[in-house]
Amino acid sequence: MMRFKVWRSGKGGKDGTYVNYEVRASPGMSVLDALFAIHEKNDDSLAFRYSCRGAVCGSCAMTVNREPRLACRTQALGLEKLKPSGLRSFEGLEKKADWDRSSEILIEPLPNMPILKDLVVDMTGFYEHYRKVKPWMEMLEDAKTYSRMTPLEMSKVEKYANCILCACCNGACPVCEKNARYLGPAALSWSLRFVDDGRVPDRKERLSLVEQDDGVPGCEFVYNCVKVCPKNVAPAKAIRTLKSYIEKGR
Ligand code: SF4
Repeated sequence: MMRFKVWRSGKGGKDGTYVNYEVRASPGMSVLDALFAIHEKNDDSLAFRYSCRGAVCGSCAMTVNREPRLACRTQALGLEKLKPSGLRSFEGLEKKADWDRSSEILIEPLPNMPILKDLVVDMTGFYEHYRKVKPWMEMLEDAKTYSRMTPLEMSKVEKYANCILCACCNGACPVCEKNARYLGPAALSWSLRFVDDGRVPDRKERLSLVEQDDGVPGCEFVYNCVKVCPKNVAPAKAIRTLKSYIEKGR
């Protein structure tokens, strides 16, 4: 049996408590599977988000053993032996749980977002920041001219287009904790995805959306975002590239 120590907060907000559940873990069982087992056998009021179960939708992002992760692609067995990723700690990540890493799996909601209930966070602010960088393409009248990319052009932006908007990076970011207006690693990665797309007619305007204090200059290059991203997007690299474009005035 494995012990899961799960954050519960019926009414959301900061008030809540940790509840222990024993789960019979078997090979192949993910953390999300374990939450289903708890939901079925212990308490069907446990709230968590999920959808695809295949690391595609990003819905099941949560904090597992003090690291933001997708619950669906995190294996339960062996988690206690997994080497920590070496994230720089901050208050939201280091809650005050009395937790024994060698015998318990600690499950908490993503940091830096208001908690609605148990493991479900309010992502309204996350999506507002995402929309601010204009993450879409405006087609010009002669659409055919602008609809094609060469494989080389595609390779420039593909890495950033792989983002599934899970918000693990924002949850791991100490700047997001202290400044709720900071656009955050996910939105800034999406900015570069379009800035580096040769088909956009408004590259300069897009750069102007991220050059203010709460955009690119807000990043402190802590690299927690790179360590937790389940899709290897490397948001800090995107921010560094945007920074160089802004500094060179292009
Ligand atoms: Fe998730 Fe990575 Fe996208 Fe951040 S950059 S939202 S961690 S997929």
